[in-house]
Amino acid sequence: MGNGSAAGQSGRRLPARFRPREWALWRRRRSLIAYCFLVETIAAAATVATSITTPPSWHDAGLLGLLVALGIAQAELGREVERMRRRVHGPPYINMTSVWTFAGVLLLPPALVAVLVAVLYAHLAARSWYRLRQVPPFRTILNATLVVLTCYSAAFVLARLGVGDMATALTSGGRGVAAVALAALTYFVVAAITIIPALTITTRSVKELFGGLGDNLLEAATLCLGMLTALALATLPALAVAILPPLLVLHRAVLIKQLEIAATTDEKTGLFNTTGWHLLASRELARAQRATRSTFGVLMIDLDHFKLINDEHGHLAGDEVLRAVAAAIKSAVRDYDSVGRFGGEEFVVLLPDIGPAAVLAVAERIRSAIEVLKVEYSDGREVRVIEGLSASIGVATYPDGGTAVDRLLQAADRALYRAKDAGRNQVVDGTATA
Ligand code: GH3
Ligand code: MG
Ligand code: MG
Repeated sequence: MGNGSAAGQSGRRLPARFRPREWALWRRRRSLIAYCFLVETIAAAATVATSITTPPSWHDAGLLGLLVALGIAQAELGREVERMRRRVHGPPYINMTSVWTFAGVLLLPPALVAVLVAVLYAHLAARSWYRLRQVPPFRTILNATLVVLTCYSAAFVLARLGVGDMATALTSGGRGVAAVALAALTYFVVAAITIIPALTITTRSVKELFGGLGDNLLEAATLCLGMLTALALATLPALAVAILPPLLVLHRAVLIKQLEIAATTDEKTGLFNTTGWHLLASRELARAQRATRSTFGVLMIDLDHFKLINDEHGHLAGDEVLRAVAAAIKSAVRDYDSVGRFGGEEFVVLLPDIGPAAVLAVAERIRSAIEVLKVEYSDGREVRVIEGLSASIGVATYPDGGTAVDRLLQAADRALYRAKDAGRNQVVDGTATA
């Protein structure tokens, strides 16, 4: 994301968030600005409307106080873990605050749910902003607003089913259970949908956000804990504190998973790093050795004259090219092929279950995909386009090109250098000469 220019200049003056003219929001696309305002207007209007139709009672205010206290306690106790999560994997990601916001849906009138979301997000922002200067406030506000709308849609479903809150659900038998479950489902689905437009603010793809079963499971788990919190608060409120320990353990489990991913991912491109790629390649080798007559391919891809790109357009534009090339390679291969970056402008591809002829065809497809790439980048004043890229590709196939991962890589690497010597922008098969 293009936040590099803003990052270095914090300091002496008032922080940018207190200078409206310099808000990061204004530098975004017009459609995004419009989207932010639309979403915020809808949320504000809905809040005003529901506070008139469903005015909160003192009892509601007491429950709100308890949820705020629990939410802040969790955020404070999980602060260290959260900081590492954010460092490992930039936002947005599934936020465990939905334990409290979903409990709020089940306990509070909508307007107080909005207050709950606002207080919890304001607390999170205030407590982590000084470390997270790269997250513009408009994004925090947009996220919080989307959460409010998500809560409202779940509350709407609850109300339509005639079960206004947890207290009613407790006396409604099967209908109460069904209503709470449907509200949870609504929360889950709407949270997923509303985040899609927000995604365009980041470099992540929809698939990356929805891809992980782990993420979905985490969201489901937080909603379940939210349900239990609401149940406790509606019956024996003091027991709601019991939600905190399992929640903190869940939080740690998430961090461990994220560290695992980070340890095998190349941060710049999101591809596998050397460690991650080797892990998969060894697994594939073991599989191929077990099966008779199984083959797989390895490609080594090196951009041609990449130094010139850096020299002419700068290192940041060079990084943009690396990301674009990474995306081009990924879309030229199958889902179960593994693309890695071995540092610099060198990429590797593992192609399971594929014969020598098909490996060459894939390599050729990648070569032409890179050739037609047009990479846009902004030099601060205008958008410029880099084109005319090319890459040299060395290919090796198991078992003829080598029977160990390192041997295959060596064979592919030698072929790559032959491709460079022969004038670049071409594919050379290293299997025959391995
Ligand atoms: P050729 O491979 O065709 O022989 O020429 P080249 O210019 O691509 O070759 P070389 O491997 O010598 O240069 C690679 C350049 O890639 C040098 C280095 O500055 C640049 N580079 C390495 N890592 C990165 C990175 O992460 N970002 C950017 N922008 N440039 C990088
Ligand atoms: Mg190169
Ligand atoms: Mg190189």
